[in-house]
Amino acid sequence: MHIGEIITADCANGTGIRLSIFVSGCTNRCKGCFQPQTWDFEYGEPYTSEIENLIIKELSNSYYDGITILGGEPFEISNQREIVKLLRRIRNELPERTVWIYTGFTYDKDLVKGGCRYIECTDEILDHTDVLVDGKFILEQKNIALHFRGSENQRIIDMKQTRKNGKVILSALH
Ligand code: SF4
Repeated sequence: MHIGEIITADCANGTGIRLSIFVSGCTNRCKGCFQPQTWDFEYGEPYTSEIENLIIKELSNSYYDGITILGGEPFEISNQREIVKLLRRIRNELPERTVWIYTGFTYDKDLVKGGCRYIECTDEILDHTDVLVDGKFILEQKNIALHFRGSENQRIIDMKQTRKNGKVILSALH
């Protein structure tokens, strides 16, 4: 996995103060994507254990509400296998931090058993996730008044409630 950018004390990509990690690689190729440079799986720096340690150290600052992982596409297969390890550490070492993930895939179509990006660790990633913002960016449905999402079709999903109830439950932030 490669990382294109890390934003510290970010207030734009989720609630509260967040550490935002932009992973590289995306095959969704949405028309009007605001950062097509991140489609390249080798954009930015290789993700190393040193970077992971720095992420954990930064996130341990008490003013953080949590981490947001976006891209690029966190649910590309090679990215999932690194992200699951990072989330395991966060849940063990900083369990009070919230986890938001942005994906261009659709949760109940692509990220469930039989879906195009469902692999051995997908369920674990989703179980560690508090909020999932899903769906491709659709230029024709772009709305700059929306909070935390770019186009009307995208959903802000309460993953804890969704996993518990076995059906998609939108966040109250929607
Ligand atoms: S999923 Fe995100 S990064 Fe990928 S093409 Fe769509 S808007 Fe761009």
